Amino acid sequence: MKKLKGLTIKEASKLLEAKEISAKELVADYISRAKKLNKNLNSFLTFAENEAIDQAERIDKLRRDNQKLSPLAGIPFAAKDIFSTKGIKTTAGSKVLESYIPVYDATVVGKLFEAGACIVGKTNQDAWAHGSSGENSDFRPTKNPYDTSRVPGGSSSGSAVATAADQVIFATGTDTGGSIRLPAAFCNVVGLKPTYGRVSRYGIIAMASSLDSIGHFTKTVFDNALVLNTTAGLDEMDATTSPLKIDNYTDEIRKSPSGLKVGLPKEYFEGLNKEIKQNITKALNVLERQGVIIENVSLPHTKYGVATYYIIQPSEVSSNLARYDGIRFGYDRDNFGAEAKRRIILGTYTLSSGYYDAYYLKAMKIRRLIRQDFIKAFKKVDVIITPTSASLPFKFEEKTDDPLTMYLSDIYTTNINLAGIPSLNVPCGFIDNLPTGMQIIGPDFSEKLLYRVGHSYEQESRWFERRPNL
Ligand code: GLN
Repeated sequence: MKKLKGLTIKEASKLLEAKEISAKELVADYISRAKKLNKNLNSFLTFAENEAIDQAERIDKLRRDNQKLSPLAGIPFAAKDIFSTKGIKTTAGSKVLESYIPVYDATVVGKLFEAGACIVGKTNQDAWAHGSSGENSDFRPTKNPYDTSRVPGGSSSGSAVATAADQVIFATGTDTGGSIRLPAAFCNVVGLKPTYGRVSRYGIIAMASSLDSIGHFTKTVFDNALVLNTTAGLDEMDATTSPLKIDNYTDEIRKSPSGLKVGLPKEYFEGLNKEIKQNITKALNVLERQGVIIENVSLPHTKYGVATYYIIQPSEVSSNLARYDGIRFGYDRDNFGAEAKRRIILGTYTLSSGYYDAYYLKAMKIRRLIRQDFIKAFKKVDVIITPTSASLPFKFEEKTDDPLTMYLSDIYTTNINLAGIPSLNVPCGFIDNLPTGMQIIGPDFSEKLLYRVGHSYEQESRWFERRPNL
């Protein structure tokens, strides 16, 4: 039998199409590996074996009938446990929802099912997506497959790990302040935070509604574009989705980036760890050889980003988490963990009369300035490249005593959510066997361009081939 391990969507879909393997074989193989590795990695909270096998059998039948199928048909995937899945437990990583079974699918999940993707299970995460390390999961922390004494990044920890450890071929995540890009960087996988409103939020348990972006983890940039082809677009159930026509994200991905201008914001490199800086410089050298032009840019309001984010985000959290009142869903409010409580209290304070103007309103004004910095920079350059994280994957409990230190993990990612623009994490090499990532940031709805730059770099650097030793 064909070797089924380590496949990309592109490779698996080719084998399926040529009928060299069946979807059922592929999915069964992934489920058994996912379960086995889960004992060590804790990347899954729930398995959906029956659903996955049923779907695989359905796809095999359609293929026998020579139906034209999506490249995602028969591909095993995982959904972060914040995506509503009809009939499959959905906890958002919180004890409050420990027993909650949704009665409908999130739009993205529905679209993936329609394309024929097979759900292996639901992945572990920081409760309510609050966190940068996975340690805020109310169940158990997920481990980094490159070094299990270290965190995988958060909050979409399980989805990044499941992709990196080859428990699935792709996974969904949410990014409110970095929760796709940071774990993607820590786990050597590709992760996209799309433009706000490009992918529907319907059926995703809300964290901070004006920042929440729905995206995906894959091994390669090409695979990521394939998934976005299926999930992007207007949704009548989410009024913030854009009516703008969706691009075909794969059709220009092989076009050379030659002539494109890449901006380097000096604020993202000041005081940066030398070795991480070195990896980014090497990556930029590759892109320069491929013909891109590097220019310096400035994003002067960068330094206000984390503070602004940690006012706006808890304000919205305090409102969104008000619906868990012990009447409608799951268990009562005593089940909220420390971090959720901290954010509810913070947000209630920043929205309260007397403090609203001083905190929330001011933060909203700075948010506008942060977005304007980017808009101004994109008049000069096509994309901006920065490190995704200022640090390497850290040890468990290294940052849990001090929430502020943990919040600073997002120093390079939150501003992109405040600005609403897209950003793609692409693996850019290792330091002491630990992965690092760079993010390619672009103007609104420039996902296609980000994929083109990312793909070109990845084809030469090929970091995706260095899989964890498990
Ligand atoms: N780590 C950030 C936070 O704790 C971002 C989380 C996210 O993107 N969901 O808020």
